[in-house]
Amino acid sequence: MDIDELSTDILSSKRRALARAITLVESGRADHRADAIALLQALKDADHGRQALRVGLSGTPGVGKSTFIEAFGLMLTAQGLKVAVLAVDPSSARSGGSILGDKTRMEQLSRDPNAFIRPSPSQSHLGGVARRTREAIELCEAADFDVILIETVGVGQSETVVAELSDLFVLLLAPAGGDELQGVKRGIMEMADIILINKADGDLKATASRTCADYAGALRLLRKRPQDPEGFPKALTVSAAQETGLDTAWDEMTTLAEWRREAGHWDARRRAQARYWFEAEVREALLSTLRREPVKGAMERLAGQVEAGDLTAAAAADDLLTTYLQRGPGGT
Ligand code: GDP
Repeated sequence: MDIDELSTDILSSKRRALARAITLVESGRADHRADAIALLQALKDADHGRQALRVGLSGTPGVGKSTFIEAFGLMLTAQGLKVAVLAVDPSSARSGGSILGDKTRMEQLSRDPNAFIRPSPSQSHLGGVARRTREAIELCEAADFDVILIETVGVGQSETVVAELSDLFVLLLAPAGGDELQGVKRGIMEMADIILINKADGDLKATASRTCADYAGALRLLRKRPQDPEGFPKALTVSAAQETGLDTAWDEMTTLAEWRREAGHWDARRRAQARYWFEAEVREALLSTLRREPVKGAMERLAGQVEAGDLTAAAAADDLLTTYLQRGPGGT
């Protein structure tokens, strides 16, 4: 594979090159992996200086994520912005399906020349999906996209992954009756920069306003975060179907992003994320070493000796690590 050519084509915003490169980073083949690593480093070395606004978007199924992304994405492309949509789909890790796989989702946006939509690939674990998404983000950024929307289904762990991949985290919620806060976990609330109560239209409009006020109240009770200017995190109502409130939501996102840029929080967050992903890569690589031969077999043998009472767990672990991971005895 000609990495230089692929890299040049991505920097010239060629969509086919971008699509090919994403396929490359998704591949599990060792030679593809080596090419992917070389490509990502080549793009880094090109020092293109492009920075997209990476927006993480989470919400439970049915809350209106695809309707929102379609309407919001079209609004942005109409302003001349280039929009990429990626997904972190923990369910694909289990079922092999994917949230953006359904072709009927975001039909108009997917035909928009200023938009690029990539479904979540089927991967064996969330770590694999996260790595692919992170690398796809870097590729889209190099291809000069202005906004990257990273969608996830609201199921615990995946939100944490998306927060580690994005500059802003937006939580999409549905209007809810009663005074319970829809069982949204505190940790997720604390991660949100902007909460959007969707479906604020028709019969649901009044409920949406009440729900929004409830969340605004709950957000005010959270500890003030250094990365927020006055008034953030914020709750707003939108209607993805009626396309109302989307412009306000965008204004709030850009206001927050600008403030963070000027205050230095934007760069600090990206630096912390880079470190986080480096450490995650190392952990992942070490774990996969353990799952492969010859370590796997050795581990099995040693486990047998530990079970039989011939070796202590500590001695067996020490033996394994010194033999296979070139570690000095006793962990030195
Ligand atoms: P997702 O599973 O989060 O991607 O949700 P969808 O975008 O597929 O929407 C789920 C359902 O909610 C669909 O029937 C949509 O038509 C509906 N829906 C989405 N947004 C709105 C909205 O703003 N107002 C109303 N009334 N319905 C909406």
